[in-house]
Amino acid sequence: MPDADSAKPNDDKPQEAGARATGKLIVISGPSGAGKTTLLKRMYAECPAPLVPSVSATTRKPRPGEVDGVDYHFLTPDEFRRRRENGEFLECFEVYGRGDWYGTLQSEVAPRLKAGKWVVLEIDVQGTIAVLEHYPDALTIFVQPESVEELDRRLTARGTETRAAIERRLEVARRELAEAERYRYRVTNDELDAAVTRLCEILKSCGS
Ligand code: 5GP
Repeated sequence: MPDADSAKPNDDKPQEAGARATGKLIVISGPSGAGKTTLLKRMYAECPAPLVPSVSATTRKPRPGEVDGVDYHFLTPDEFRRRRENGEFLECFEVYGRGDWYGTLQSEVAPRLKAGKWVVLEIDVQGTIAVLEHYPDALTIFVQPESVEELDRRLTARGTETRAAIERRLEVARRELAEAERYRYRVTNDELDAAVTRLCEILKSCGS
């Protein structure tokens, strides 16, 4: 059987890597602007579990302050396509339908699970559905804002995007919120401390 740790073409089955793994896979989704980034920073700092983030690959341009290899692996569309065709992704999708691709590299997941780590994927709903096909035992958590109106307020206050881009994100958020039931847990991020506590409780209940 081929070793799923190194990037291999599609016939290298991720579920076999999952069966041998000793770590845990945690998948977190939620509309952009729901305060996920801040919440996850606190989760990494405060939750007593061997958590490691999976750094996704994307074709979108870095925002100010974002670091290649830390926030994302920023790839050109050609490099992304090459890796996709080479079967290096556990899942990948065009998010927002505006030409930007995002994906989870196998190399971010399988070796760390094997090493006993708890690998955290911050991906969208369609990515989660694809991951669950390979890792049905993944712990799925949906971080939701109080409301779409609150999300609009947060994205507008962040000031990094045009109104049209925000409108597109709100539309995606409405669709994503409707899918929140697919997740094993939902955490409402209205009060940060309470949300961090809830996240840590969820992780603890799953075996930290
Ligand atoms: P942003 O551009 O704001 O960093 O992320 C936009 C969206 O892309 C977020 O909803 C995030 O969950 C999603 N995303 C980030 N990385 C991945 C990935 O590897 N796979 C998938 N399917 N979605 C991702």
